[in-house]
Amino acid sequence: MAGVPCTFIRLAGCPLRCVYCDTPNALSLDSGKQQSIEHLLAELQPVQSSLVLVTGGEPLAQKNCHVLLTALLDLYDVVQLETSGAYNISLVPEGVSIILDIKTPGSGEEARNCWDNMDILHSNTEIKFVLTDKADYLWAKTIMHKYALAEKCTVLMSCTWGSLNPKDLAAWIVEDVLPVRLQLQLHKYIWGAEETGV
Ligand code: SF4
Repeated sequence: MAGVPCTFIRLAGCPLRCVYCDTPNALSLDSGKQQSIEHLLAELQPVQSSLVLVTGGEPLAQKNCHVLLTALLDLYDVVQLETSGAYNISLVPEGVSIILDIKTPGSGEEARNCWDNMDILHSNTEIKFVLTDKADYLWAKTIMHKYALAEKCTVLMSCTWGSLNPKDLAAWIVEDVLPVRLQLQLHKYIWGAEETGV
């Protein structure tokens, strides 16, 4: 939901090591502060926002993530979860909008993809491909067709910052009449690529 003010909850820790990871400061569990869900929710309540996004790191690597998501559904109109796609999403509470990355060959973590997830996608899910080059784009097209992704949910394509030009990606999408949405990392255009916590 680009451009909409959003409360961010970034859970620490991720077992993946994507070559383009732009949140290296969140990869270690030690990078966060341990706190109870009750305490976290108490800190959030003064925030005026109808949208909350739980991201990471890899949020589903924390066993109580589902408990947190259930609690957030009582507080926010829209609850989103952003996951690497390496974990099974079947236990994510109904009502949560899922943004599920599919790791491309260029990420270096293709082997981590949990393909079982492709059988439980629904219209409340967005599939995201973060692309490093043309080879990733062609691979993503193959995966889209193999799992009929555009018929099941929204498909997003995004560029890794500094390695793939969004102009090239836009041209490929238009040329192929591909039913996807081009997504830009808006925060990097606004605050710069190096800024963290935005
Ligand atoms: S899944 Fe996300 S947080 Fe984990 S290494 Fe990849 S880009 Fe970084």
